Amino acid sequence: MSEPMKIKLDRTLCDGFGICARHAPEYFSLDDWDYASLIGDGTVPEGDRDAVTRALLDCPVHAIVELHAKKNRPVAPATETAES
Ligand code: SF4
Repeated sequence: MSEPMKIKLDRTLCDGFGICARHAPEYFSLDDWDYASLIGDGTVPEGDRDAVTRALLDCPVHAIVELHAKKNRPVAPATETAES
């Protein structure tokens, strides 16, 4: 069974493109200048995962990150070791 998705928005990175709120308006609200705020605590139920993932992937400045559900840390890309 998969863990619930958890996201975080770094408002210092947000550049006001407003894309996230178009994809997932239940999770992102925009101020008068289209800068985003996260609605709620960032927990995303399975049914909303696709829309929120689209918002995350389409954010031009990568201001939205998925946190590891257990540790609440950003999910780092897998690093490979060249040795075998
Ligand atoms: S898509 Fe990214 S840059 Fe645009 S409003 Fe949302 S968080 Fe900010």
